[in-house]
Amino acid sequence: MDIEISKETPEYSHDFPQHLCNMCGKCCKAITTPYTYEELQKLAKEGQEEAKVFVDIFKRYPSTEEAKKAVPDHVSNILKQLKKNNPNLNESKVVFYYCPHLTEDNKCSIHSIRPDCCRRAPRNGWSLFPENCGFKGWQFQQKERVKSTVRKLKEYIMELELLPQNTYIPARNMTAKELIDYIKEKIKPWNKYGAELW
Ligand code: SF4
Ligand code: SF4
Repeated sequence: MDIEISKETPEYSHDFPQHLCNMCGKCCKAITTPYTYEELQKLAKEGQEEAKVFVDIFKRYPSTEEAKKAVPDHVSNILKQLKKNNPNLNESKVVFYYCPHLTEDNKCSIHSIRPDCCRRAPRNGWSLFPENCGFKGWQFQQKERVKSTVRKLKEYIMELELLPQNTYIPARNMTAKELIDYIKEKIKPWNKYGAELW
């Protein structure tokens, strides 16, 4: 069973409604990744596609302070969110990047060939975007949809746990135990956002 996000609300009628972008340009001016600069370089050299694109496109700010100067609210917000997960975070160790392809009037100068990560941003409801981002409502909605789906999957697990674990589930061509494990794997990526408590 895949985690699917329904599309019943007309205003947000597809997964990446780019028209919601108000072109503030902040997400192109400050971006960070969970990797250190060196790890990112290494991954790119090893051929990891996302890392390669990232290294090709984005430029590194010389320091967190420089990033803060460029986009104070966005960078502060990112640091605040990162600190929630890691209270001992050393702000100065967080590497921020900017995109040199953003024009002065906040347009993408390589729009038609912009990388996939830009086409699909914000990737999900938890992506760290600025407070005034046009996708704020969309992100909220995405989070609620994912939470609802995960809750339904957990209910399904509870139903499956009531069965003898070797019961065959024809629709899935699995035993109850196999299906439970499969669903748990599907939920796992959301644990970093708190899915264990949903
Ligand atoms: S932060 Fe949001 S509104 Fe601003 S440019 Fe990025 S996607 Fe658009
Ligand atoms: S490639 Fe375009 S959309 Fe992507 S970060 Fe740069 S300016 Fe923004």
